[in-house]
Amino acid sequence: MTPLRSVCVFCGSSPGVDGRHADAARDFGARLARRGLTLVYGGARRGLMGALADAALEDGGRVTGIIPRGLWAREVGHTGLSELLVVDTMHERKALMAERADAFVALPGGAGTLEELFEAWTWAMLGIHAKPVAVLDVDGFFAPLLAMVDHMTEAGFVRAAHRQMLLVDDDADRLLARLAAYEPPAVERWLTPDEQ
Ligand code: AMP
Repeated sequence: MTPLRSVCVFCGSSPGVDGRHADAARDFGARLARRGLTLVYGGARRGLMGALADAALEDGGRVTGIIPRGLWAREVGHTGLSELLVVDTMHERKALMAERADAFVALPGGAGTLEELFEAWTWAMLGIHAKPVAVLDVDGFFAPLLAMVDHMTEAGFVRAAHRQMLLVDDDADRLLARLAAYEPPAVERWLTPDEQ
């Protein structure tokens, strides 16, 4: 079991309309900091992303932002992080996020959040990484998405073993404990770097 030292969080670059979502992002950032876990995220200062990073920093946590040059140039980046990595492309960003983090967690967000979550989950299914991928289901936000995931599983497009690789919890502390205790399931074969 790899020790859990850093968690990559995907979440909205917008604040959303329900204040509970921003509260959950702040709460999650603070919990990561108190547990001594490095937050790895997309490096923005706005929305839930900014709330998450600010809360982690306020609680003395270490925060690594990984942002593509184009977004950095648009001044959406957070300038007060422990570490900021400016990369050339979105693909490079996701690869670096996957390299730097020991686990992935999605909080409420939009299309960008889902795209990142689904890529992390797909990479786990393919054996590109063996890290836990999770959803923090704040006030049932992810219920429609999880219903779709279950629908895909019942329809035979997602294997039951792969469905189980997507961890879901509505309690932040319990989720973090599950990430720390995660044992990757046996897969047929892990891909070599050349095959990825
Ligand atoms: P969305 O959920 O569509 O707001 O997209 C949020 C996710 O996509 C985050 O986890 C980021 O990694 C990435 N992203 C989207 N917009 C931005 C932005 N303005 N600055 C940095 N990252 C962003």
